[in-house]
Amino acid sequence: MYIRVSDIPREGLDVIASRGKSWISGTLEGMDPYPLQTCRLISAGLFLTLEGRDIFTGGSFVAEGEALCDRCTEVFTVRLEKEFHTVLVPSDRGPSGSTNVELHEEDLEIGFYDGSGVEVTDLFWEQVALALPVKLLCGEECRGVCPRCGGNRNRGECACPEARAAGPFDLLKTLKKEKE
Ligand SMILES: [Zn+2]
Ligand SMILES: [Zn+2]
Repeated sequence: MYIRVSDIPREGLDVIASRGKSWISGTLEGMDPYPLQTCRLISAGLFLTLEGRDIFTGGSFVAEGEALCDRCTEVFTVRLEKEFHTVLVPSDRGPSGSTNVELHEEDLEIGFYDGSGVEVTDLFWEQVALALPVKLLCGEECRGVCPRCGGNRNRGECACPEARAAGPFDLLKTLKKEKE
């Protein structure tokens, strides 16, 4: 959904109130959700205000998707929640020319827009990407897979002998034996 700068009234624009909730579930449709397999917005809020040509966004969302666990490779459901405040500066002006932005809080994220309007999908997709954890784990306690048989250790022990990690001393022992 595209919102033009000229669509934002002086008092600001409550995107949900003005455009309805129906667009929320389809917002991320057609986007490549990598590293997730699927991703959709469950709920979202977005308020836009203009200050000069800078667009201030205040929003929040709950998103849900499927991902493969980095350790055990099983599919699990990821739930992401975030609140965000950003200021979008017209790209033709750049950060150096922006006088307003410097006066605002330092933790305010600064982005750019083309000067005519913002694509709501891009806005939310960027925030979803920022909310992603560094590692996608089905759970903090995930035990991963057995390096020998590939069995999922979360489902129980396999019959493989305990794999001992080969350290540098093992190599020394071998060399010593060969000498003897
Ligand atoms: Zn896992
Ligand atoms: Zn095994």
